[in-house]
Amino acid sequence: MQLLDGTACSQQIRQEIAAQVNELKAAGKRVPHLAAVLVGNDGASQNYVAMKVRDCEEIGFNSTVIRMDENTSEEELLAKIDELNKDEDIDGFIVQLPVPPQIDENKVILAIDSAKDVDGFCPENVGNMCLGLPTFLSATPNGIMELLKRYDIETEGKHCVVLGRSNIVGTPMAILMSRNSKPGNATVTIAHSRTANLKELCRSADILIVAIGKTEFVTADMVKEGAVVIDVGQTRVPDDSRKSGFRNVGDVDFENVKDKCSYITFVTGGVGPMTRASLLQNTLKAYQRR
Ligand code: NAP
Repeated sequence: MQLLDGTACSQQIRQEIAAQVNELKAAGKRVPHLAAVLVGNDGASQNYVAMKVRDCEEIGFNSTVIRMDENTSEEELLAKIDELNKDEDIDGFIVQLPVPPQIDENKVILAIDSAKDVDGFCPENVGNMCLGLPTFLSATPNGIMELLKRYDIETEGKHCVVLGRSNIVGTPMAILMSRNSKPGNATVTIAHSRTANLKELCRSADILIVAIGKTEFVTADMVKEGAVVIDVGQTRVPDDSRKSGFRNVGDVDFENVKDKCSYITFVTGGVGPMTRASLLQNTLKAYQRR
């Protein structure tokens, strides 16, 4: 079994981007600028945004965090998005999801200018992805593709089961894996909560990508000997032994599954850092396009 090291891979990507930022600086040019809108007080969201800001600082991007109150109305958030769409100094921005319940997430996604949608969530960017046209690829699936590429994992002709069909992970993941590209060219099955014979289906996967948000759902009897397993799941569970009071648990029962796999990710240092690296890649792309 080989552990897929998302931390090391993302570090490589960050170094590559930092080198490009240094060239921009040396030429006296403006550097890319990412903004993040954080609505409310969700602990995990605050953490994610803080990490994204740290990444920007590390590689030399400018970053701005816009914090909005838990009670922010939909109208107020849409007005802020409009402002950011028009702000010449911002190359790309994200609205950290989830947003509080009084705000319709779909309206938020539709309001973001596709040229600044570095999360790759808006219909134009998703459509371009489906057609194989230049776009901002959704950060998590793109990070996983990058991980497969950098470890030179063969995907062509393999059966890939994607467990979960969300708009931001499962669905784009399945599309990317099925495209005529490298990595890609896999035969893909998307599974979800209504899938019959889930255990058998997962066991038939050469590559199993799990994004359901159910802790340790995938057990050893659901995994084929020699499979590649990518665990996207990240759920906070209380843990008094940690200073933070919680730990992240993945969707895969890592301890019991790992020895059956050829490659596997762990919840810490796996997909998360690759997602953040993708966001930086998209921000650089947004900057270059302008
Ligand atoms: P989501 O929007 O809640 O979607 C979950 C998907 O899983 C749905 O399609 C659902 O099926 C399916 N599902 C739920 N229970 C299932 C079951 N028992 N059997 C089969 N399918 C089941 O979640 P998401 O946003 O994609 O996120 C999934 C996980 O990934 C979460 O833990 C999240 O925190 C994590 N995540 C991590 C990163 C990262 O960078 N590491 C990024 C994004 C998300 P239905 O459609 O039928 O309801």
